[in-house]
Amino acid sequence: MEREQYLAAIKPRMPEKRYIHTIGVMETAIELAKFYGEDEKKAEIAAILHDIAKYADIEWMEQIVLDEKLDARLIGWGSELLHGPVGAYIAESEFGIVDEDMLNAIRFHTTGRVGMSRLEKIIFVADMIEPNRKFDGVDRLRKKAKKSLDKVMSACVRHTLGFLIDTKQPIYPLSIECYNDMMKRED
Ligand code: GDP
Ligand code: FE
Ligand code: FE
Ligand code: FE
Repeated sequence: MEREQYLAAIKPRMPEKRYIHTIGVMETAIELAKFYGEDEKKAEIAAILHDIAKYADIEWMEQIVLDEKLDARLIGWGSELLHGPVGAYIAESEFGIVDEDMLNAIRFHTTGRVGMSRLEKIIFVADMIEPNRKFDGVDRLRKKAKKSLDKVMSACVRHTLGFLIDTKQPIYPLSIECYNDMMKRED
């Protein structure tokens, strides 16, 4: 499938705003892939599909977790945490994506994980810094993205965890493991 076909397939599954976000993630992910010598086509497709499950029915997603034996800890966390792993399931089962790196980039784009690949970091970071994102500190993250993939990944994870703590939200275990892993890489 080509870019336009993927875009046409995701468009009816999300509101306009999310579609515009997705285009931003796609463009940013391609730029980062170019910059860091990663496969641009993989970045493009993973970015287009990353939020495909964002508006799927929660009960349906929880059933997928059980049927497909995904991480059982996901049950009860809601669509914010479910849409990554279920998105990877949809990418594989509906779109025929078999590349494990692309599937992991979609699967872990919300939480991160220990030992992320370059492509996974690119999708995680692109999701956060794409041009339509507006939050305090986003420009600092955009600048960091041109310096070091590990440094910007680390800064993005710290930003997300800081936000979750400030807003008194629970932190999913993978998010904490990802943070600890990134701190080990800090010099
Ligand atoms: P989006 O799908 O493009 O909006 O972005 P993400 O998939 O990265 O994140 C979706 C939401 O999940 C955001 O509001 C994050 O703050 C939230 N989120 C990320 N990690 C965690 C976590 O560990 N726990 C909780 N409760 N929420 C999280
Ligand atoms: Fe997402
Ligand atoms: Fe994100
Ligand atoms: Fe997103």
